Amino acid sequence: MNHFPIFLNIDGRRIVVAGGGDAAIAKLRLLLKTTAHLTVVAEFPSPEVERLADVAAIRLIRRAFAPGDALCAALVYGATGDAAEDARVAAIARAEGALVNIVDNLTDSQFLTPAIVDRDPVVVAIGTEGAAPVLARAIKADVESRLSPVVGILARIGKSFRHAAEALPMGSRRRDFWAEYYATTGPDALANGEQALTPALHDLLARHLAAEPAQGHVDFVGAGPGDPDLMTLKARRALDRADVVIHDRLITPAILDLARREALIIDAGKTGFGPTTPQAEINAALIAHASEGRRVVRLKSGDSGVFGRLDEEIAVLDAHGLSYAVIPGITAAAAAAAAIGQSLTRRGRNASVRFLTGHDVAGFADHDWKALARPGEVAAIYMAKRAARFLQGRLMMHGAAADTPVTVVENVSRPDQRTLATTLRLLPEVAAGIEGPAILLYGLAPRQAARALPDLKEAMQ
Ligand code: SAH
Repeated sequence: MNHFPIFLNIDGRRIVVAGGGDAAIAKLRLLLKTTAHLTVVAEFPSPEVERLADVAAIRLIRRAFAPGDALCAALVYGATGDAAEDARVAAIARAEGALVNIVDNLTDSQFLTPAIVDRDPVVVAIGTEGAAPVLARAIKADVESRLSPVVGILARIGKSFRHAAEALPMGSRRRDFWAEYYATTGPDALANGEQALTPALHDLLARHLAAEPAQGHVDFVGAGPGDPDLMTLKARRALDRADVVIHDRLITPAILDLARREALIIDAGKTGFGPTTPQAEINAALIAHASEGRRVVRLKSGDSGVFGRLDEEIAVLDAHGLSYAVIPGITAAAAAAAAIGQSLTRRGRNASVRFLTGHDVAGFADHDWKALARPGEVAAIYMAKRAARFLQGRLMMHGAAADTPVTVVENVSRPDQRTLATTLRLLPEVAAGIEGPAILLYGLAPRQAARALPDLKEAMQ
């Protein structure tokens, strides 16, 4: 992002437009919607500019732009239609401390004017950094059609009621009040005219003040393997409502971006071998926030119920009588199998699939190796990177063939996803080259094995 969007307070400030032709008029149409003082400096103003000066909508100076014209101006537009003249205007304006925009000249402009959807005081600004004006117009048309024309009135009256609404405690109760106003109470009241809005707000506030204070609640949300598109709608809604989000290490920034900006985000990262947040601390945070009536999302990668210590956290909430719900997610095994175009079970090959961990509290995890070593068995092995040699040893000792296919999928569903197709024989060497989170699909080769071969070579180098 080379251009950072902000809303500049120009109430009562000067904005100067150099030029009196078509380019200047196009900018003036937009600027006339503001409460800034507009000055046009033009040697030969068009009749339309003259007319604006006649009705005192602008102040017109009939000469070429000169030093001093940009003093105390917030913004200056170079809109003379002449590149050399615009450059001269820009140099003067910059020297006098104003921000400059030169019409149709992205490189020499300090700011850009976005496409605007105007429901004053609600304003949607759309910018593409000059990359795609056609796209900006299409987005504008789309937003125009979605945003009700009365949004501005609702927001204006709402704003005048903000002080009164402070009678409700900050956080979800006040948010719920406003959500109801904008979704139903406001639009319904507006059907009886604008004057019906303030009384409707008073009624709504009285109802919300009389309501029972909200109970705290924890949603255990499975966020999936990393791609926000792989979250359920229910998970997204929970995240959207959360006051507090407590997330584990594997949650991607793209998913955290879906939380409300005011939400408190707590990183409760645990790495297998690196710095960890003690479980007791996570439990304490869950209880503290839920007890204070907040909506908490405990965000875990994949599915919360797969190697997620879900039961321990539920037990703690139960012990404190706090309410919770579990929202399932796509576990890494399911996403990895999808990535290699395979199914986890198949008629005639394997009628069951195991989810294993390479590690447990006691170190390398022990399993029913004999059963796993049988031909056709499939297992998704989590946290297996460091256990690769151990797994290979145990499985081969119990009779697994050295050429049993194994596929390692790293960073499943993320932009840097990598598939490494190998066999039990080469597994430790392949696993040594893995850095991100990886799942090991034992007994499965990618459907398009040929495609994965270069990856294997790469891993072996
Ligand atoms: N609850 C999670 C698993 C947590 S245990 C789930 O259902 O997926 C952490 C392990 O999950 C990692 O060591 C790795 O083996 C696996 N994992 C999680 N996200 C992954 C991803 N995006 N790509 C590959 N493996 C992943």
